[in-house]
Amino acid sequence: GHRALQPNRHSHRQHQQQQQADQQQQQQRVPDGWTPASWKSMPVKQQPTYSDPSQVDTALGRLRSLPPLVHWGEIDRLRKSLADAAEGNCFVMQGGDCAELFQYCNQTQIENKLKILLQMSLVLTWGARTPIVRIARIAGQYGKPRSSPTEVVDGKTVPSFRGDNVNGFELSEREANPDRLVQAYFHSAATLNYVRALVSGGFADLRHPDNWTLEHVRLESTRRMYEDMVGRMLDALHFTKTIGAAESHGLETVDLFVSHEGLLLDYESALTIPVNNQFYNVGTHFLWIGDRTRQLDHGHVEYFRGISNPIGVKVGPSTQPNELVELIRTLNPCEIPGKVSLITRYGCDKIQSSLPAHIAAVQAAGIKVAWICDPMHGNTESTASGLKTRNFDKILKELSLAFEIHQQHGRQLNGVHFELTGDTVTECTGGSVNLVEEDLSRNYQSFCDPRLNYEQSLDMAFLIADFFQR
Ligand code: PEP
Ligand code: MN
Repeated sequence: GHRALQPNRHSHRQHQQQQQADQQQQQQRVPDGWTPASWKSMPVKQQPTYSDPSQVDTALGRLRSLPPLVHWGEIDRLRKSLADAAEGNCFVMQGGDCAELFQYCNQTQIENKLKILLQMSLVLTWGARTPIVRIARIAGQYGKPRSSPTEVVDGKTVPSFRGDNVNGFELSEREANPDRLVQAYFHSAATLNYVRALVSGGFADLRHPDNWTLEHVRLESTRRMYEDMVGRMLDALHFTKTIGAAESHGLETVDLFVSHEGLLLDYESALTIPVNNQFYNVGTHFLWIGDRTRQLDHGHVEYFRGISNPIGVKVGPSTQPNELVELIRTLNPCEIPGKVSLITRYGCDKIQSSLPAHIAAVQAAGIKVAWICDPMHGNTESTASGLKTRNFDKILKELSLAFEIHQQHGRQLNGVHFELTGDTVTECTGGSVNLVEEDLSRNYQSFCDPRLNYEQSLDMAFLIADFFQR
């Protein structure tokens, strides 16, 4: 009886050696008993109910027969970049829609989104003097967690809209439809294909500043600030060329990764394949677990612990520090660098009572993760007329406090996470054009959370760049 309680020193050493070897190769071992479907034996939140399960099987079979959307080599590269970010050697910028819709899969909206992400990352690279890891919430950000399975519209109780991969926003489309799982794959593929084409075709080439037109920037001061920065940057590039320093091919193109919340586990596990004794989700580069689905003994954590993709975990004011440490250990037992990023979302008046204890607990456990600040989800409020909105200054305040608190703990903030769009929507208040509540109804487009518009996003990038100068 007693013996079983004694740590077996020999196997402990072997375990440590194996762990070190795994870390060196950045190879994750598949946990004992894990399969892409092992989550099915556990409680799982936020999954749709379909009226005909056989149609779901048909859709999942189709998904399993389709080719990967991304390559595992790209996934490994992102994981290594995130390991660098955790060390403070680069900075993560993640952003995109709250709920991506199939109808956003068109030339204009993809170009607009890519443009604002590239312009923001340019401002950050220049201002922060650090490489930026760009991760878009795109090409698969369809599934949405909901606080209630039904809602009342015009006096009628209907199923809530769970995102385009489950049902449609139109009242006649609210039944969960398994064919949408396959449609999600093809819309992701078409979106990702055009993103890749834009990047490799020259849309991101630093030496062609006409790609950086500012026609949406109405405010003269923002435009001047940005033009001034682009001018100085081009001078620097010209100087490098004049003195004969080799032009690196870093100028022509950029790395851009895609991500979404890994919510619908049927969909995610159908796109999970074995490669080199590991499992990769080849439907996207980076997935995160939402605030509502990170229970230690539930299906989402089970699924996420077995894949080799880098993953995020949303962390909020309800997360207990010891629970956070246990969660990271469960998700990354081999301590693969770059595997786990924490995406914190407290709200500007809760961050001070939550983040310090979270950082302290993770530091005390000797764990390395990238810390990314999501200043959006803790700062959602409703207007008197019932519109969901967020205020620019509160978003900025949470960010500013995140920078400060990390610094007080002898480390750096490693990245930011925004809900934004390249279009001129009116969903958040404030910013340099100072939108007020009455402006919101003018062009409120979001079917889910309010996003920063084009100008507010660019404003935000300049202000973040400023934090690095302090
Ligand atoms: C989201 O990122 O859109 C989201 C639902 O966030 P959270 O899980 O942090 O509430
Ligand atoms: Mn959201």
